Amino acid sequence: MTIDLRSDTVTKPSKDMLDAMHQAPVGDDVFQEDPSINALESFAAGMFGKEKALFCPSGTMTNQIAIRCHTQPGDEVICDELSHVYQYEGGGIASNSGASVKLLQGDRGRITASMVESSIHNPDDIHKPVSRLVVLENTANRGGGSCYAFNDILEIGNVARQHGLSFHIDGARLFNALVAKGETALQYGEAFDTISICLSKGLGAPVGSLLLGDDGFIKKARRIRKVFGGGMRQVGSLAAAGFYALQHNIDRLSTDHAHAKAIEAILKEKSFVKEVVPVETNIVIAECMPGFNLSAFISSMSNKGVLFFAISPTRFRMVTHLDIHADMINQLDDSLKQYN
Ligand SMILES: *Cc1c(COP(=O)(O)O)cnc(C)c1O
Repeated sequence: MTIDLRSDTVTKPSKDMLDAMHQAPVGDDVFQEDPSINALESFAAGMFGKEKALFCPSGTMTNQIAIRCHTQPGDEVICDELSHVYQYEGGGIASNSGASVKLLQGDRGRITASMVESSIHNPDDIHKPVSRLVVLENTANRGGGSCYAFNDILEIGNVARQHGLSFHIDGARLFNALVAKGETALQYGEAFDTISICLSKGLGAPVGSLLLGDDGFIKKARRIRKVFGGGMRQVGSLAAAGFYALQHNIDRLSTDHAHAKAIEAILKEKSFVKEVVPVETNIVIAECMPGFNLSAFISSMSNKGVLFFAISPTRFRMVTHLDIHADMINQLDDSLKQYN
């Protein structure tokens, strides 16, 4: 049995999800005539209390469309240095939007209102780019699945609003944060101008992300989605997978979090592990002792069917998801027995 802890993107659609996909009515979504896409978009918009939603192939696309809609070339986007929008979207902020980036050094991917406030340029200073957009990420991927305190989000939102900046959240794993912190989608809908959520991470759909915002924003976003090549046709079966995920796979994220905690406890007992970054959701990051041969460890574990990645020469990451079951955690424990 393979235990694939490389990412929560590796999940396969369940039988029930496949049934829902098979039964979905479809139409041409560029004409906005796909009933399953329309149903998903209005359901998701309702969850967050937003006027509209837009289905896109990936979270990279929803983030990049949002950045493009909020900025003009030369404007500045404020985000943490570990942000997905900066680190893992191929330089898209520059190439898609011609915008510059102000990177802040937050705590495990989380920035604060005072950091944001002090990074906003005087709009009358013609030497400076125009500060236009603040992007947060929750949970923070490179932060090891860390969650914001909701009050910090509100404070950052207030600073953004006072200075006329837009406020976007990369919520690829927002539902992990909601479940971990007991927060609601509506709170986030109220706090942010625009929201990106992924259906293909912990929620277990094979593909798809949603961008949420008000009517005017989504109109603009629909145009940019077309420009980016993301206008798709009879994709209602993909929407049905996402709809199924939103209806059935949110509450169970607490199981993934419990499994990640169990992995944290196992790793903490190992002498080759120097430190485990405190687990908050479904991502476990461990730092190895100096001199430990991490790449040999990863390939030896891979031979035993346990897959995960190094994220630096001394750190590795394990991610739990809906295809990781309790018996696999026990098997992981067994596979690690030879390491004290
Ligand atoms: C996965 C991820 C995305 C989107 O990735 P895609 O593979 O393009 O769907 C965006 N933000 C974060 C934090 C992510 O982890």
